[in-house]
Amino acid sequence: MSSKTKITVAYGDGIGPEIMKATLDILEAAGAQLEYEVIEIGEQVYLKGISSGMEPGSFESLRKTKVFLKSPITTPQGGGFKSLNVTTRKSFGLFANVRPCKAFSPFVKTYFPKTDLVIIRENEEDLYAGIEHRQTQEVYQCLKLISKPGSEKIIRYAFEYARKYGRKKVTCMTKDNIMKLADGLFHKTFLEVAKEYPEIQTDHKIIDIGTALIAERPEIFDVIVTLNLYGDIISDVAAQVTGSVGLGGSANVGEEVAMFEAIHGSAPDIAGMDIANPSGLLNGAIMMLVHIGQPEVAEKISNAWMKTLEDGIHTGDIYQPTLSSKKVGTNEFAKAVIERL
Ligand code: NAD
Repeated sequence: MSSKTKITVAYGDGIGPEIMKATLDILEAAGAQLEYEVIEIGEQVYLKGISSGMEPGSFESLRKTKVFLKSPITTPQGGGFKSLNVTTRKSFGLFANVRPCKAFSPFVKTYFPKTDLVIIRENEEDLYAGIEHRQTQEVYQCLKLISKPGSEKIIRYAFEYARKYGRKKVTCMTKDNIMKLADGLFHKTFLEVAKEYPEIQTDHKIIDIGTALIAERPEIFDVIVTLNLYGDIISDVAAQVTGSVGLGGSANVGEEVAMFEAIHGSAPDIAGMDIANPSGLLNGAIMMLVHIGQPEVAEKISNAWMKTLEDGIHTGDIYQPTLSSKKVGTNEFAKAVIERL
């Protein structure tokens, strides 16, 4: 029997195919033990009239391999289409969205060079639960759903993550001064679960001041756990302040299935030009390797990638004439990482 782990791979739209090829080239050169099952997602599938953007057979592939490395897709304009990400999260119970936000100063410009935080966002409940309806001609209602089991699952995940990665503090963010019952339940559950992890410091911030602090002093945060909507917003704020929107990877994790991707979109404006930065997807793939039990390969790639940045070999999006030594395209960047493995 093969010792390789079978994963499902989707090349996506726009720059997706280019950054996926670069990422898989690096994974292979680093000795990752993987086999791929390639599925089609995105524009081509939506055009066939499949509103989820993913064919039934592709769901079957995910059910089987349980690991999905996904390039970004172009979301079609107009009504009738469902978000592929939301469908995947709901179909496979991907309850945790994990998004590390780290500064790579001076290679990527940031005012906050010491930032190194991880946002763990609840992914299934809250205002995203889909309980939305019209009450009258002029009134619509969207209900916020927070459950004790859902809260406990994500909060425990955050503490386990902190323990596994040697992180020192977990900060909970809610708006329980106003939503005393719903957000209050999340905060209360946080305090209960925290007791099981005495070695980890804890903190709570009301989401508005918490967001302001991420924008002003992101280095004070370590792991942040929060509700779905707040997590959606603060993860973009955090990525922006670290200056690394193009470099970040993200994981959507469930009990069985997990999906790994870049945080950026399909960048149709630069598609097919071999200039896209593959780092976001590569960082998603590094998280995937840790998840499937190949952490040594993950570390090897991470070190080679950092060395490539340190040597000033930069794609156009992070190129700085005074600092970079060479401006490279997607392929050449991947080759430079491979040379440093
Ligand atoms: P985008 O992230 O695709 O692009 C924003 C800007 O960043 C563009 O100028 C682009 O050229 C640049 N950029 C993005 N990634 C880059 C990279 N790797 N290297 C260099 N430059 C990069 O955001 P958008 O333009 O708002 O969205 C484009 C499409 O992507 C839309 O259809 C959107 O719905 C979709 N989208 C998909 C996902 C996903 O599949 N997970 C996520 C976000 C957006």
